[in-house]
Amino acid sequence: MINIVLFGPPGSGKGTQAQNLIEKFNLKQISTGDLFRFNIKNETALGTLAKSFIDKGQLVPDQVTIDMLIDELKKPTDAQGFIFDGFPRTAFQTEALESIVKDVLNDDIDICLSLVVEDEILVQRLLERGKTSGRTDDADENIIRNRIKEYYAKTAEVAELYKKQGKYVEINGVGEISEIAEKLYTEIEKVK
Ligand code: AMP
Repeated sequence: MINIVLFGPPGSGKGTQAQNLIEKFNLKQISTGDLFRFNIKNETALGTLAKSFIDKGQLVPDQVTIDMLIDELKKPTDAQGFIFDGFPRTAFQTEALESIVKDVLNDDIDICLSLVVEDEILVQRLLERGKTSGRTDDADENIIRNRIKEYYAKTAEVAELYKKQGKYVEINGVGEISEIAEKLYTEIEKVK
């Protein structure tokens, strides 16, 4: 079993590469943001609660997020591991994830893969995407720069913890999609 924490700022190609990893290694992706959006769309109690935080740009309380994550991890799957996306976001969540993975799967996080792309390239990519995606947060350069800044502020302490454990690996996220995928595969093969 292989458990990966995947990091990447908006525009880094994280979604594309997550898809490659899922297929290559038969993994299940757990994205806390997607799970919240699913609950909001289906108007569940969890969705209503989460929405009140998400709409204000705040983090959903840890206990709510962690309970949802545990439920998802407990679902039967034939996947051979997990990609965690959007979790952990804080030092507290990093430690929580370690004990959850231990309790539920009797396993560990193997690696934290971080896609690195220069800010100027991210801005250009997102502005380009904004022309066709219809996402208003991709159309405004100031909003884009703010999202990138936020990302670094939030992930710094998580990255530090994985660095201390020797599990943090940065991958250059600029280049051909297939080349970047190969680099990710190589790092995963090392810890498999
Ligand atoms: P994302 O799609 O990962 O950007 O997440 C969208 C929103 O969901 C965030 O802005 C938070 O409000 C909430 N959220 C996602 N993941 C977490 C998490 N690990 N802890 C708390 N809130 C989260």
